[in-house]
Amino acid sequence: MSNFTPNKNPEIKYTQLFINNEFVNSVSGKTFPTLNPATGQKIADIQEADKEDIDKAVKAAKDAFALGSPYRTMDASARGRLLYKVADLIERDINYIASLETLDNGKAFALHGSIGDAYFSALVFRYYAGWADKICGKTIPIDGSYFAYTRHEPVGICGQITPWNYPLVMAAWKIAPAVAAGNVVVLKPAEQTPLTALYLAALVKEAGFPAGVVNVVPGYGPTAGAAITSHPDINKVTFTGSTEIGQIILQAAGASNIKRTTLELGGKSPCVVFDDVDVDWAVAEAQEACMTNMGQCCVAGTRTYVHENIYDEFVSKTRELAKTRKIGDPFDSNTVNGPQIDQEQLNKILELIESGKKEGAKVEHGGERHGDQGFFITPTVFSNVTDDMRIAKEEIFGPVQQILKFKDLDDVLKRANNTTYGLGAAVFTNDINKALTFAHGVQAGTVWINSYNHVSPQAPFGGFKKSGLGRELGEYGLQNYIGVKNVVVRIPQKNS
Ligand code: ADP
Repeated sequence: MSNFTPNKNPEIKYTQLFINNEFVNSVSGKTFPTLNPATGQKIADIQEADKEDIDKAVKAAKDAFALGSPYRTMDASARGRLLYKVADLIERDINYIASLETLDNGKAFALHGSIGDAYFSALVFRYYAGWADKICGKTIPIDGSYFAYTRHEPVGICGQITPWNYPLVMAAWKIAPAVAAGNVVVLKPAEQTPLTALYLAALVKEAGFPAGVVNVVPGYGPTAGAAITSHPDINKVTFTGSTEIGQIILQAAGASNIKRTTLELGGKSPCVVFDDVDVDWAVAEAQEACMTNMGQCCVAGTRTYVHENIYDEFVSKTRELAKTRKIGDPFDSNTVNGPQIDQEQLNKILELIESGKKEGAKVEHGGERHGDQGFFITPTVFSNVTDDMRIAKEEIFGPVQQILKFKDLDDVLKRANNTTYGLGAAVFTNDINKALTFAHGVQAGTVWINSYNHVSPQAPFGGFKKSGLGRELGEYGLQNYIGVKNVVVRIPQKNS
């Protein structure tokens, strides 16, 4: 990744709403600022969508989806080609897009940061591009002088609400499968990070999608977001964000018109390390599992369960490793930890760190704000953590690792499952029996064996319990966007 060069001052090309393939002002003319989390300074004022703007976007989407429209009559393979083109355009502009993401979100440009995100987004578009002309129904031999066939039809207008931690990636996860299956989209990016989704909208237009197929409308949750979830003409809503807001969205989606709903919510994922592994390797894996993207990752492995035989060694090595995580300017190629997204998150994380100290956990490293500009937190490692502490139960969404001690597989499996969440889990061991017993017993949508955070376009991602509903990515991810229609045909003569 060394040949990528960040642009610390990327031109801000788009600050308006993208409706019907045009960038337009909001009906109210109101704007909201988006900030650089590394400095706390404003980057730009963005046009703020509210209910009337959502209505306009839905109208554009509805027209694009009308029977006989250019989009509805397009060959599925042609739709696929447009998605391939979006992937190519993302790669063409990867330096610019990654620079924009780092500026708006604060994640490191290099390594697994913005460049990785932009690259992954292109992969997701390419993966779903291939699906566009492979979404098939069945013919079914029903009884009598009939046969039935199913059509896997688009569900229609999809409202998509994304979070700020992976702004471009989340837009890709949502737009690509929706369009592959022939749907139309009204996407609201998080108010903290609207810039890359707006740029992606421009690429969608450049690729050649007809007007209204993809609309991007930045705004706040309780206004623009709520207008999406309660809109009577929107057929489906997909949301990634907090469990608390997911519950509100599910209610609104049900109360308005029973929208099909996909939710990818919070987590408190266990990362279990047995005593038969190389400790240095497991220390590095477990720390990355927790602290990647400054811990702002729904699937972050925040409960590190370590076998009692290696606990002390593991703790001291984790502490030393945390000291080496370079904090600072996310455009600097040596930076590993950039800032948290905003003041609110910074305060929330610091409050949880204080609760850990009060409840008796030991701070091995960090535990405080870093500097006084921007929203940085020193990578924090807690040892002597017990399951009843708030830091072991609540989602922190910051670079804060909890190390807990366990005795055996039964003990750790019960404790791993003793949570309302069920997004991710990992087990590190060379014993296949332990690995598989854990993998099959843990309630989590993704389980990694001897790795973490390995997410791929081809394989499903999503949660059990309060971590969500439905799956994104892979073939499973398409199912959210497909309505099955059964067509029954009477025939004069039936032959086997
Ligand atoms: P976080 O806690 O990580 O900021 P949220 O769950 O609050 O995440 O927000 C994720 C996304 O949900 C953002 O795009 C936000 O604007 C949107 N959102 C927040 N509240 C609502 C709501 N009541 N209805 C619809 N969308 C909302």
